[in-house]
Amino acid sequence: MIKGIGASEGIAIGKVFKYNKPELDIIKTPVQDIEKEILLLGLSIEKSIEELSGIRDAMEEAGDSEAADIFDAHIEILDDPGLKGAAGEKIKSDNANAAYAFSEACDKFAAAFESMDNEYFRERAADLKDIKSRVIMHIEGIKPVSLSSIKEEVIIVSKDLLPSDTAQIDKKLVKGFVTDAGGYTCHTAIMARSFGIPAVVGTKSAYENVNDGDLMVLDGFSGDVIVDPPESVKAEYRAKIEEYKTRSSALEEYRNKKTITKDGRHLEISANIGSAEEAEIAIKSGAEGIGLFRTEFLYMNRNSLPSEQEQFEAYKDVLEVMGERPVVIRTLDIGGDKKLDYLRLDDEMNPFLGNRALRFCLKHKDIFTTQLRALLRAGVYGNLHIMFPMVATIDELRDAKRMIKEIEVHLKEEGTEISETYKVGMMVEIPSSAMLADVFAKEVDFFSIGSNDLIQYTFAADRMNQDVSYLYQPCNPSLLRLISLVIEAAHKEGKWAGLCGEMAADPKAVPLLLGLGLDEFSMNASSILKVREALSNLNYEDMKKSAHKALYTESQEQVIKLINDELGIH
Ligand code: PEP
Ligand code: MG
Repeated sequence: MIKGIGASEGIAIGKVFKYNKPELDIIKTPVQDIEKEILLLGLSIEKSIEELSGIRDAMEEAGDSEAADIFDAHIEILDDPGLKGAAGEKIKSDNANAAYAFSEACDKFAAAFESMDNEYFRERAADLKDIKSRVIMHIEGIKPVSLSSIKEEVIIVSKDLLPSDTAQIDKKLVKGFVTDAGGYTCHTAIMARSFGIPAVVGTKSAYENVNDGDLMVLDGFSGDVIVDPPESVKAEYRAKIEEYKTRSSALEEYRNKKTITKDGRHLEISANIGSAEEAEIAIKSGAEGIGLFRTEFLYMNRNSLPSEQEQFEAYKDVLEVMGERPVVIRTLDIGGDKKLDYLRLDDEMNPFLGNRALRFCLKHKDIFTTQLRALLRAGVYGNLHIMFPMVATIDELRDAKRMIKEIEVHLKEEGTEISETYKVGMMVEIPSSAMLADVFAKEVDFFSIGSNDLIQYTFAADRMNQDVSYLYQPCNPSLLRLISLVIEAAHKEGKWAGLCGEMAADPKAVPLLLGLGLDEFSMNASSILKVREALSNLNYEDMKKSAHKALYTESQEQVIKLINDELGIH
C-alpha cells in the first residue's frame, strides 16, 4: 500500500493515467555531423508545425477562435526563416547540438520581442517559450503527455500537479488524483476538494511505483492508495463508496437552511470559488455568499493576461448570480505554487516568501489597474467586496487603497458607471498583519483570515512540503491566539472577521473559531452542509468557553483533548 495525505474526501477505483511534465535539461554538447544536426532541427520544426496545425484546426472546429489564433501565431513564428536560420547558424558556427542552438535562438528572439514597445510582440515572447519546448521535445524524441488528451475514466498519478494543470482536466473523466508532492493546503488539493474529486497528495513515490493502466483504489479520507487490489479489497471499497453516498444524502436536509447552533446563534457560511461558473454551484450548495473568489484562476490556461472586459464579465456574472449576497473578490494572488508561464518571471529560491500576490500587483501596476477597473465596473451588478491578499504592512494596504481611489476618479471622469457601495477588505495571512490587526482594522471594512498561509508562515512550514506537513496545526494555541487578536481587533472597530482557508471547514477547528467570535466561514461548497449539520448539534456558549480555554493550553494535542472532553468532538 502507498500512503499519502488524504486531501479530498471520497473513494475512487479506476485506471492509472501517469502524467508528468518532462523536464528539459538543455545542455550544450559539441556535435561532429553538422549537416545531420541541421536536418534534425528542420524535421523537428516541421513536425511541430504539423502538430500545431492539428491543434489549431481542432480549436477552430470547437468554435474557440481565440485559442486557434494563438496556435496560428505559433505556426507563423516557426514558419519564419528567421528563427530557424538563427538556430542553424549557431549549429554551424559553434558545432552546437540542435536542442541547444534552438533554445539559444528562442531566448534571443524572446528577449528582443520583450523589449519592444508593443503589446502584440510582448505576447509573442511568451509564445516562444511554448514553441521552444515543443520543438526541443521533438529533437530529443520526448513524447508529450497532455491532460486534455484523457478520453476515458482515470485516476491521475503525478509527481506534482500545478493548479494550471489541474484546471485543464475533464471533471467527468478524472475520478481522482494522486501526487507525490504537496500538502493538505496546496492549491491542487484545494481544487480537488472544490471539484469534489477524491485526492491523495504527498505520497513521495507513487509515480515511480505504478504503471499506466494499473487498477488503483484511492481513499481520499485515509490517504491510502492500493495498486492492483484483490477482489475482496475492491468489494470492501465499493461498500465504502455506497456508505459515503448514504451519508452525503443524509445531509440534504440542511441544504436550504440557515446555519444555526443548537442554542440559536446564526453564523454565515460562504463559498470559495475559482471561476464564475462555480457561483451557481455555491448557491445550490447552500452558501450565503462568496467569501473568496480566487481570481488568479482567470489568468491560468491561456497565453496572455485576461483583458479588462473579460474580467469585468466574469466578475459581473458572479455578482449577478449572487444578487444581494456579499461577494468577496480577491485581487490577483499569483506566485507561490500559482505560476503564470506567459509572464516569464524569474525563478525564486523561496517563491512563497517572494514576489507574490499584492507585492506583485503593486510592482506591476498596469496588471493591477486592469483588474481594479474591471472590479469597480462590475460592482454595479451586486454586493462587491474587494479583498487584497498577502498584506504585510500598513503601507502596502494604503498603496493599494490609493490605487483604487485613483482608478475610481479616472473611471468617473470617463463617465463610466461604477459601484458606489463596494467594500474594501484584506486577508490576514501573514503574522505581521495579525499582530497589528488593531491598526489595520481602522482602515478596512472587513478581514478574512487566510489560515492556509497564516499557518505556513506562523510555523515556518512550507505548505507544499509533505515532510513538514505535521506542522499544519490549525488547532495549535499559537495560531488560535493570533486569530483571536484579529477577531477582537475587527469587532472593536465594528467590522466583521471571516476565515477563508481550509481550516474554515475543519470539524475540530470550526467550534473553536465560532467560540472565538468569528463572523463568517468561507469554504469549498462541498463542505457547507457537513459544517452546518455539525454546528446544529453544538451550543455556542459551550464553544465559547472551550475556545477561550484553548488559548491557554500548550499544544494542539491539548486543544484536541479539550474539545473532545468538553464538546464531544473527536
Ligand atoms: C489562505 O492562504 O488561507 C487562502 C485562502 O489563500 P490561498 O490558499 O489561495 O493562498
Ligand atoms: Mg493565501
